[in-house]
Amino acid sequence: MIVLEGIRKAYRHEAGYVEVLKRISLSIESGELVSIVGQSGSGKSTLMNIMGMLAQPTNGRYLFGGEDVAHLSIDQRAAFRNRSIGFVFQGFHLLPQMTALDNVALPLQYRTAPDRVSEAEAQARAREALASVGLAERFHHKPGQLSGGQQQRVAIARAMVTRPEVILADEPTGALDSDTGEEVLSLFLNLNNNDGITMIIITHNPEVAERCSRQLLLKDGRIMSDNPECGECSLACSGAE
Ligand code: ADP
Ligand code: MG
Repeated sequence: MIVLEGIRKAYRHEAGYVEVLKRISLSIESGELVSIVGQSGSGKSTLMNIMGMLAQPTNGRYLFGGEDVAHLSIDQRAAFRNRSIGFVFQGFHLLPQMTALDNVALPLQYRTAPDRVSEAEAQARAREALASVGLAERFHHKPGQLSGGQQQRVAIARAMVTRPEVILADEPTGALDSDTGEEVLSLFLNLNNNDGITMIIITHNPEVAERCSRQLLLKDGRIMSDNPECGECSLACSGAE
């Protein structure tokens, strides 16, 4: 499903280049539940942005579903992302002036032919997605009228409304208390288990990582461990923000 081959990412700094990802090679199969842990600054978000086609690697090959996505134009990349990938971020990233329903319908409204759906279908699917995360009573609330956990559930509904193959979540429980984080994590586990969505969760929380069937440890721009029984993960996370 996702294949990275020798992925490098370097950023230009005053003193020259800083290599954030150092030739990462990695395969993630369809239906996997993967956590990525590592200290702050270890390159987790950079890796996620590359897997989500939000950023381009400096070198290396990225195949999604067997397709080399480097050849896609910016518009093709956006359409591909809209069809295939859902995103959830630590800070929710909802539009504050819009209702929960309109936030969730938005990715469907961005669609262009041949993926286009009618406004009625977009609304119906947004209602269905919000109901499935337990927010049937909150369709017309704006983000500021919702708790953090509810806002993250709106963001999850927005990620799933397009019926993506993969959901990428960057510290999705990082801004939530442990009970609320647990609710959010359960939603992810259900989406993986019941809907077969491939789930990649970046986390600082060892309890979240342990619930994933595969744990990747990123350290100094490399995958240091790819092992479900990885005892190093708690070490890697200590001292993180
Ligand atoms: P993490 O998510 O693990 O905390 P990031 O992927 O956000 O790490 O960042 C990894 C490193 O890359 C950091 O040192 C950060 O400062 C640097 N970095 C990230 N994005 C940029 C950018 N756009 N320009 C320059 N440096 C960046
Ligand atoms: Mg990050």
